[in-house]
Amino acid sequence: MTLHLYDTYARSLRPFEPLAAGHAGLYACGPTVYDYAHIGNLRTYLFVDGLRRALAFNGLQVRHVMNITDVGHLTSDADSGDDKIEARSARSGKSAWDIAIEFTRAFEGDLRALNILPPTVWCRATDHIAEQIDFIRDLEAKGYTYRTDDGIYFDTTRQDSYGKLARLQRDGLQAGERVELGDKRDICDFALWKFSGVPGQRQMEWDSPWGLGFPGWHIECSAMAEKHLGAYFDIHCGGEDHVAVHHSNEIAQTEARHGTRLANFWLHGAFLKTGAAKMSKSAGDFLRLDSLVQQGVDPLAYRYLCLGAHYRSSLNFTDEALRAAASGLARLRVTVHGLGEEQGDADPAWLARFTACINDDLNYPRALATAWELLKSALPDAVKKATMARCDAALGLGLLAWRPVQAAVPAQVQAWMAQRAAARVERRWAEADRLRALARAAGYDIDDTPQGQQARLL
Ligand code: AMP
Ligand code: ZN
Repeated sequence: MTLHLYDTYARSLRPFEPLAAGHAGLYACGPTVYDYAHIGNLRTYLFVDGLRRALAFNGLQVRHVMNITDVGHLTSDADSGDDKIEARSARSGKSAWDIAIEFTRAFEGDLRALNILPPTVWCRATDHIAEQIDFIRDLEAKGYTYRTDDGIYFDTTRQDSYGKLARLQRDGLQAGERVELGDKRDICDFALWKFSGVPGQRQMEWDSPWGLGFPGWHIECSAMAEKHLGAYFDIHCGGEDHVAVHHSNEIAQTEARHGTRLANFWLHGAFLKTGAAKMSKSAGDFLRLDSLVQQGVDPLAYRYLCLGAHYRSSLNFTDEALRAAASGLARLRVTVHGLGEEQGDADPAWLARFTACINDDLNYPRALATAWELLKSALPDAVKKATMARCDAALGLGLLAWRPVQAAVPAQVQAWMAQRAAARVERRWAEADRLRALARAAGYDIDDTPQGQQARLL
């Protein structure tokens, strides 16, 4: 069964056919690094990781590009307010550059803890200023821009297709009287380049053909996606909040420059909520992955929780749901571990069932349930284990690598281990076996590993 994905642009499920056989180009909008990521943001990156793993599961070589927004994202998506990173700098006394580095590192740590594969290419907006300036110049040459007192803006009225992704009703918007237009000619227009304003007020600023300033938030993605994936690539994704503004504007820019809508597929992940509210960084009171870890929760329990909800359904975060996920993960680990060490071949029929779930628009909840059914089936343990190894390449739970935590090994067991090591050197196999049996009777098995003997709780 071919992979089918729900394309927001078409508002329908479409079979995924790569633009270049055997390859998939994937761009995911990355974090704005003015604060820690919250577990809602991380749900979106888990969705992206599930997509990437599904593409690889289907034999495609994935080039996954993720940007780091370290400049230009203003507190209001309507191009007003402060730059979030400069504002954090003013509050904390650290430089804007240091803030970006600090929260980028924290983000990378979160991804590692969640077994999220690192992107093939990380790209930072501040490393691509020249590309963004070139892009804007080209838009200017083609007549898509105008200048105001505070920057260079994109004229969305030049495009009949503007807002197609969001099914935007322009007429309704024009009638919306309460919207603050500022210097913009149309409420949908957006900043490509903002002027610095008062000299010395900003830390991140660059010379440009239009004056000292910094790029708008949307141009970075069009410019970096083009540089690292080309002007038209397979899939662009992000959280559902990006549909109406950020992704609509990315499409507008690239369509104006190249006549393409940037990506063949547009995928969006639904939000994590707490009660009725969406979790948001700017609201301030959010849960970090680290907060869960401090409560003794394994980060992968959060991954397990997210696997249990389809990416297009919103997920309500509760402590109970997290506890249930932690217990589900613990049972899964112990079950897979209990399959033993014997080698076998994966079962094609079960793999096909599992693949059908993934390929049905990334139905991980059903894929996870199928993995459980497989474990409860009558297949030989070695076959279950080999099949689970394949499934876990998509689930990303690190099941095969999991080992029970080494409990402090009692002194008596350690003494038997030392005697056993000596017996093995002297090839007294019967004695070695007798000592191992003693350890087993005391509840410990002894594994012979390249690093020597290891005791593990039975
Ligand atoms: P930001 O760092 O604010 O630019 O957001 C990073 C990513 O997280 C974006 O793709 C957002 O769409 C996504 N996001 C923000 N809030 C949530 C949430 N509550 N649940 C899921 N994703 C979110
Ligand atoms: Zn973006």
